Amino acid sequence: MKNLSVDADRLWSTLMEMGKIGRTPAGGSRRLALSREDGEARDLFVRWAEDAGCTITVDRVGNIFARRAGADDSQPPVCIGSHLDTVPTGGKFDGVFGVIAGLEVLRTLDDAEVRTRAPLEVIVWTNEEGARYSPVTLGSLAFIGAHSVDYALGRMDADDISVREALAKIGYDGSAEVGNRPIGAYFEAHNEQGPLLEESGEVIGVVTGSYASRYFVITVKGMAAHVGPTPMARRKDAMVGAAKAILEVNRVGNAYGPDGRSNAPHIEVYPNVRGVIPDEVRVSCDLRHREHTTIDEMEKDLRNALARLGEKLDMDFELEPYFAWGPMSFDPELAELLRNTADELGYGRQDLQIIAGHDAVPMTEVTQSGLILIPSRDGLSHNETEYSAPEHVTAGANVLLHAALAKAEVVADGDT
Ligand SMILES: [Zn+2]
Repeated sequence: MKNLSVDADRLWSTLMEMGKIGRTPAGGSRRLALSREDGEARDLFVRWAEDAGCTITVDRVGNIFARRAGADDSQPPVCIGSHLDTVPTGGKFDGVFGVIAGLEVLRTLDDAEVRTRAPLEVIVWTNEEGARYSPVTLGSLAFIGAHSVDYALGRMDADDISVREALAKIGYDGSAEVGNRPIGAYFEAHNEQGPLLEESGEVIGVVTGSYASRYFVITVKGMAAHVGPTPMARRKDAMVGAAKAILEVNRVGNAYGPDGRSNAPHIEVYPNVRGVIPDEVRVSCDLRHREHTTIDEMEKDLRNALARLGEKLDMDFELEPYFAWGPMSFDPELAELLRNTADELGYGRQDLQIIAGHDAVPMTEVTQSGLILIPSRDGLSHNETEYSAPEHVTAGANVLLHAALAKAEVVADGDT
C-alpha cells in the first residue's frame, strides 16, 4: 500500500471543474450556502460520488454523506469531509479542496481495487462559511447536537429566506435524521489560509488545536434626526458611534501581541437612508487569541472601551456574544498518525494551531477528529485569487488517503 498515490492530474482537474461553478471575474468562486450555485456544486459532487459507486444520504439540514461500503459494513465509517459553500468573493480551494481530495481518495481505492474493513464516507457539510447564514459550521454543529435542527432550519439570510426554504429550493432538504450516524474517525484537509507553511517551506501542517474565538454583535443606539437642521452638538449619530467602536475592536486586536486577532467585518445600519441620522447600528465582530486568559482580557478591554464611548457620546453601546469556540485540542492519536503518514510519504511537516473555524472542530465532540493544512500562496484566502500549488494539493490528498486507510484497515485478497 505504501506506493499507492492519488491521481494528481485527475485531482487537480476535478478541483478546477468544481471551481467553475459560480465563477467570478477574477477567477474565484461565488457559491453562497444553499444558493443555486451551491445546489449545482452539490449535484456535481453527488454525480461524481455515485459514479464512484457511493451511496448518498442527505440529512435534514442538507449535510451530504457519500458512502463507499466496507468489507464489514457494520463498522462505523472513517470519514473525510469539508464544504462546498464559499464566501461571496471566495477562492477555488477553501473547503472544496477537502471535499475533492476525499472523492479522489475513493477513486484511487477503486482504481487499485482496495477494499477496507470499515466503510469510508466523504461528507459535504452545510453552510460552513457563515457568510449567508450565521453561525459558521452550521451543518456540523447541528450534526453534533450543538444546535437543534429547528434552530438550524430557522436561520434567516439577509433577504429573510430561511435555511429550510433554501434547502427545499435546491432539493437538499434530506430526510435522514441529523447526527444519527456513528462515525469511526473524521479527517479534514484544508488550505492554510495563512502564511506559516509558506514561510517555513513545509508542505503539511498537522493541526494540534485552535485559538479561542469569540463572536459578538455591538449594538449602538443613537437618535434619528434630520441630517441638515440638527445642530452637530445635539446629534446622537449611531454611525459615528459604530465607527469609533470599530476602531476600538481593531485596537484590541493589535494590543495583545502577535497572537491577538480582531475584526469587525459586518454592519447593519437603521434606517440606512440618506437624510436620516442613523438611530441604530449593529456591528458584528470577533476576537481571537491563543491563550484563554488573554481572550478574557481582550473581551474585558473591549467592554470597558465601549462603556467609555457610551459615556462620552451619550449613546448606548451593547456587546452581545453570539458564538464562541476554542481553544480546543485535536485528537493526539490522529495527529500522530497524520505526522507519521506525512513522514512516510516524505512530505515536510510542522504542527500548527488554527485561527479559522473548520468542521473538524465540532467533530471532536463526537469522534476522533484530525485536520491537516496545505500551503496557501501569499497566505491568502477568502480572496478570489486564493491558490495552492498542485503538488501541495496532491500531498494533502495522499496524506488523507494513507491516514484513512490506516484507520479503516485494508482487507487482504481472499480475506473477508
Ligand atoms: Zn473552509
